[in-house]
Amino acid sequence: MNKVSDFLTYNLDTIGTIILIVSLFPIMKLMKELPPGNFRKWWGAMMALILLFIVGYIYYVQQHHYDSGFTQNTIVPYILFFGSIFVYFATTLSLWTTHDIKRIYTLEIENSIDPLMGIYNRRHLSRILDDEFSRAVRYSQEFSILMLDIDFFKKVNDNYGHDIGDMVLKNFGILLKELVRETDSVARYGGEEIMFVCPLTGGQHAVALAERLRQKIEACIMVPADVKKGIAEVRITVSIGISAYTPDISSVEDLIKRSDMALYRAKNEGRNCIFICDGTTPEIVLLEKV
Ligand code: GH3
Ligand code: MG
Ligand code: MG
Repeated sequence: MNKVSDFLTYNLDTIGTIILIVSLFPIMKLMKELPPGNFRKWWGAMMALILLFIVGYIYYVQQHHYDSGFTQNTIVPYILFFGSIFVYFATTLSLWTTHDIKRIYTLEIENSIDPLMGIYNRRHLSRILDDEFSRAVRYSQEFSILMLDIDFFKKVNDNYGHDIGDMVLKNFGILLKELVRETDSVARYGGEEIMFVCPLTGGQHAVALAERLRQKIEACIMVPADVKKGIAEVRITVSIGISAYTPDISSVEDLIKRSDMALYRAKNEGRNCIFICDGTTPEIVLLEKV
């Protein structure tokens, strides 16, 4: 019995203290990986508490050699020992969880963002469209989509090469992210076709938004001139087809079809312009040139 008691006195305490000190490492790693903010501050507070625990533990180890009470010598070392194991598990599991959350976040981005343009991809666009369309139908809300297509983009590729074409698309993506309203979403629908999804937006507001986009895009230099490479600055214009939701539209596909028709019309009418199809008359599709 004496031997067991001696073991507890001289070893269990020390092992517990070591486990507590080791528990600080996952926290330090966590704090390095977490972005600055409240979460990191709370983990800092957790670290301070563990340090306090370690100090208290060491103090107890120093003191309890001089006491011979049964409870203090036998029960308390166990409590502290298992307490230190608890802290170790809590900190290590938190670190693993953080790694997993980061991995899931990266996968989610890869799954929903177009790598060239940096805006949503087609897959994510489908999810947004389904959600927003169902909401518009359920609550009879206004809802519009804008289909943009770059005018004569083949010429950019033909004149300057595919790499410059890619650079145009990349910079176009950056511009679109700047222009999109907080409540809207912007996604790459196809090659150089872009879709804006605008909840709670009726036809007339969508037209105003499209005109603002058209002007901003027209005014922007997509690739600056490079005299050494003999490249003149590249600018682009877009044609835009708008489709505004009306109760006779029964599916997302219908809504998209109408934006396609409006876009087709904008292309035929000379490009760099906007058409809207708001389906107010079911048989005759209403298209207005802005
Ligand atoms: P329009 O005014 O009728 O739209 O003329 P357009 O030349 O833009 O014709 P269209 O929209 O049909 O052509 C799209 C072109 O965009 C064809 C393709 O070579 C090019 N394109 C599509 N995706 C990419 C891409 O990722 N990178 C580059 N560089 N070009 C692309
Ligand atoms: Mg085009
Ligand atoms: Mg196209």
